[in-house]
Amino acid sequence: METLVGHTIEEMEGIAKALEVPAFRGRQLAAALYGRQVRTWDALTDLPRELRGRLAEQYALAPCHVRSSSAAPDGTVKYLLSLPDDEVIESVFLPYPGRTSVCISSQVGCPMACSFCATGTEGLARNLSAGEIVDQVVQMQALHSERITHVVLMGMGEPLLNYDSVLKAIRLLNNEVGIAMRHITVSTVGVVPNILKLAEEDLQLTLAVSLHAPNDTLRSELVPLNNKYPIARLMEACRAYTDKTKRRITFEYVLMSGVNDTEKEAHELGRLLRAQPLSSVNVIPYNSTDVAPRYKRPTPEAARRFQQIVTSYGVTITQRQERGHRIAAACGQLKRSALRAGSSMRPLPMLTGASSGAG
Ligand code: SF4
Repeated sequence: METLVGHTIEEMEGIAKALEVPAFRGRQLAAALYGRQVRTWDALTDLPRELRGRLAEQYALAPCHVRSSSAAPDGTVKYLLSLPDDEVIESVFLPYPGRTSVCISSQVGCPMACSFCATGTEGLARNLSAGEIVDQVVQMQALHSERITHVVLMGMGEPLLNYDSVLKAIRLLNNEVGIAMRHITVSTVGVVPNILKLAEEDLQLTLAVSLHAPNDTLRSELVPLNNKYPIARLMEACRAYTDKTKRRITFEYVLMSGVNDTEKEAHELGRLLRAQPLSSVNVIPYNSTDVAPRYKRPTPEAARRFQQIVTSYGVTITQRQERGHRIAAACGQLKRSALRAGSSMRPLPMLTGASSGAG
């Protein structure tokens, strides 16, 4: 059954008109679902009971239901969300002082097969709909009393391979949920044609490019998509993106001991990015996973030395704060461990009875 979350205000007005009620009922519906995160028909009290009944015959309210969750002492909460067809995706709630971020998925699984990534071993099951993407944010907003200010599309999947649904979801997040466009980050491993297409959308969102290696030999080993779009083409597309949008691009670099964290790669990265306007690097020490035991976390000294060398080229580099977050290296770990353990992850007391989606 189709869900109402995922429709624009105009589409909800159309749904109202199709049921022969005034269009403002559609606007009320959008305000309730996106603005107040109403998750059950009973709580949708702005609409007459009779209209709710007729809507419920044709639509479910929302697609995402909490299947399980686990909390870290720093306040990070990882969710496994069930979808209407029983597929499962991951989303992460990340509170920071002064802002609250969520990391969401764009696909069930991922076809990119990056060699260090848990999700990459599963392949792609399917794309998420716009409703399934936006509802991860709405669901987490409903479960927590803090207002979500930042959204990062860095969970399962390659967002630019699900272009239309991701773009619709981003517009819904901006227009209806109230997330500032500059606070929405799309992360890609480098789907060059769609980076160029995104540049033409004229959106002030933030683009993050998962680079992970400064030369084609190593990058093709880590990110097979590099065989199709090698670094020179990727950098050219990134330059076109910054020229058009005037927005800074963040290059993500997962540091793996002895693989891409040596002084040689640091110098190569510095030389590559000093020529790249409006760019900075985020390094993330690899989170060991049973998917690829050959990849190890670097020592703090190696990570520090790497950053010093890259900085010496005038390139801005920061180490991302780790919060039990699905960093690129760890994506898919939550789902895998939960499925292996028959979903025996620790449920949160505060979520008891609050995990249902559409009623
Ligand atoms: S790192 Fe990202 S793009 Fe690569 S396989 Fe994992 S989810 Fe896909």
